[in-house]
Amino acid sequence: MITIQNLKKSFRTEEVETLALNGVNLSVEEGEFVAVMGPSGCGKSTLLNIIGMLDNPSEGSYNFAGHEVAGLKESQRTQLRKGNLGFVFQSFNLIDELTVFENVELPLIYLKMSKSERREKVKTVLERMKIAHREKHFPQQLSGGQQQRVAISRAVVTNPKLILADEPTGNLDSKNGIEVMNLLTELNQEGTTIVMVTHSDRDSHYAHRVINLFDGQIVTESQNRAVGAMV
Ligand code: ATP
Ligand code: MG
Repeated sequence: MITIQNLKKSFRTEEVETLALNGVNLSVEEGEFVAVMGPSGCGKSTLLNIIGMLDNPSEGSYNFAGHEVAGLKESQRTQLRKGNLGFVFQSFNLIDELTVFENVELPLIYLKMSKSERREKVKTVLERMKIAHREKHFPQQLSGGQQQRVAISRAVVTNPKLILADEPTGNLDSKNGIEVMNLLTELNQEGTTIVMVTHSDRDSHYAHRVINLFDGQIVTESQNRAVGAMV
């Protein structure tokens, strides 16, 4: 699904140039669950943002499902992203002015889906994420764990092929963190590919494969033997 070769990304701000990614090679197969780990500033979010087509690499190639992504214009990236990708972030990134229902409905509006179809899909996903009873609430009226379940609902309502999660449990206590990891594991078992950045050893055990980044390069990679939901 993903083939990345010699990927480099530099950021230039005034006098300073930061080489955030320095020659990353990575393949992710359809159906895999990959965890990306490494110290703060090593380039994890930069890599995830490029995989998620939110940003372009400075050098190298990135192939997603047969499409060469590096060098695409913003509008072309948006087109390719539509319905294919779902994002989950540490800080939930919900829109405070919209209700739970409206937050989850938003990606379907972008896909120009009819109102009745949107309603059906949003209801189904909110039931599944056990947050349907809060559909009229606003994000600030929910706990962190509930907000993350809404964010996951929004990420999966379009049935994306790939979910990108950047420290999805970073703001959650362990009970809610485990719940979120179990949800991601379920989605993966149903066929959704997942690439997740994490600082947590506990979370990395849910992945099939763990990639360690250091100074913008992959330094080690390991396969997990026992994978599965914790109880
Ligand atoms: P953390 O674990 O703290 O989230 P990270 O591994 O996700 O760290 P990145 O956010 O990918 O790290 O940043 C990698 C490097 O690139 C850092 O030195 C950061 O300061 C720099 N960087 C990231 N985004 C930008 C930007 N938009 N402009 C300038 N520098 C940036
Ligand atoms: Mg980061």
